[in-house]
Amino acid sequence: MTAPSRPRANARQEFLPFAPPLIGEEEINEVVATLRSGWITTGPKTKRFETNLAAYLGASGALALNSCTAALHTALVTLGVGPGDEVITTPLTFAASVNVIEHVGARPVLVDVEADTLNIDPAMVERAITPRTKAIIPVHFAGHPVDLDPLYDAAQRRGLAVLEDAAHALAARYKGRLIGSGENPVAFSFYATKNLTTGEGGMLTGNPEFLERARLISLHGMSRDAWKRYDKGGKWYYEVLYPGFKYNMTDIQAALGLWQLKKLPGFEERRRAVVALYDQAFAQEDALETPVERPEVEHAWHLYVLRLRLEALRIDRDQFIEELTNRNIGTSVHFIPIHLHPYYRDKYAFTPESYPIAFSNYRRMISLPLNVRLSDADVADVIEAVRDVVSEFRR
Ligand SMILES: *Cc1c(COP(=O)(O)O)cnc(C)c1O
Repeated sequence: MTAPSRPRANARQEFLPFAPPLIGEEEINEVVATLRSGWITTGPKTKRFETNLAAYLGASGALALNSCTAALHTALVTLGVGPGDEVITTPLTFAASVNVIEHVGARPVLVDVEADTLNIDPAMVERAITPRTKAIIPVHFAGHPVDLDPLYDAAQRRGLAVLEDAAHALAARYKGRLIGSGENPVAFSFYATKNLTTGEGGMLTGNPEFLERARLISLHGMSRDAWKRYDKGGKWYYEVLYPGFKYNMTDIQAALGLWQLKKLPGFEERRRAVVALYDQAFAQEDALETPVERPEVEHAWHLYVLRLRLEALRIDRDQFIEELTNRNIGTSVHFIPIHLHPYYRDKYAFTPESYPIAFSNYRRMISLPLNVRLSDADVADVIEAVRDVVSEFRR
C-alpha cells in the first residue's frame, strides 16, 4: 500500500466525473407531461419508443424492457435455453451477460478475447462448441462490433442461437449494417452511463415472431398486456400462458428515451470527436496503446479503453488510476474479467490464467471519460493529466 498522494497544484479544480448523463429540457418536459397524462407505466410512449428505435435501426421490431439484463434473460428463456445447456460468452464483460446464463440454469462457457478488439475470438468459439452448446452471447466490447460473420457461420452450421449483447453498441455498424438491424435477437442497455439513457432500461430487437413470444414471457406470461386491456374498447379477460417475468419499461422511461434517441446522432458525433482528440494525443506515446477500430466496422465508442504498456512505466494500472484521481480525473475499468469474480472462480475452478488475454489486458486497461458532457477544455484536462502521469512515471 502506498499512501495516497496529495492533490496536485496543477490539477483541474473540479473532479471530472467518468460518465454523467446529458438530460435536456426536452426529456424533463416529456417526463413531466407523462406524469400529468394519467398513464405512467407501459403505454403509448413505450410503444412509440419501440417503433422509433426499430425505425432508427431498420429492425423489424423492438421490445422495450426495464434493463438489458432483463432483455438478455428474456431472450434466453424465449430461445429455450435451460439446464443441461452450455452458452458460450466472453470473460471480458459486465457480470450481467453471464449471470443470465446462470439464471436459466445453463452453464456458461467462457472463450478468450482477441488481443486487438478485446472481443470474443470467433476461432476459439468454434473450438469451444460441444454437443451441449445451445447459444452464443457475443458482447460488442466498448462499442466495437464483434467479428460476426465467422460467428454466425459457425452457429448456423451447428444449429446454435446467437444473442448479441449490444449494451455498448447502439449506433455501431458491422460491414455497413447497424447492430440490431437483423433477424437475430440483440439486447441494448439504456442504463445511466450508456450512449442513450432512460435511467434504467433496455430493448430487445429481433424477428417479430421471436419478439411476440419474448413480450409475453417478459410480462407475467399474460396473453394481453395492461395497456390494451385498460384502453378504450379493451377487454378485461386475459390468460397466463407461462410464469413470466415483470420486465416492462414504463412510459416515464420511454419519455426520456424518445428524446435521447433524437439526439443520438449528435451524441455519436461528439463521442467520435473526443476519441479523435484522445487518439491524436496518445498515438505517439510509447507507454500507451490506443483502442482499435477495424476497417469493416463503425465503432459506437461507448468506452475509450486506453491500455498501458506496463514495461514502459514504473507504476501499475491501479497506481496510474490513483494518479489520475489525484489530478481530479474520474476513470473506470471495463471489466474485471468474469473468471476473477469469486462466484465464477470458485464454481468453475478458474485461475487468472484460464483466460490469459482477458487477464493480461485487464491488468493494463483504463477507461477514460468519454461522454457528451465533456467540453474541449475537459478533454484537454484529461490529456494533460495522462501525459503528466506518463512523464512522471516513465521507466
Ligand atoms: C451495462 C451492461 C449490461 C447490463 O445493462 P443493464 O441495462 O444495466 O441491465 C449488460 N452487458 C454489458 C456489456 C453492459 O455493459
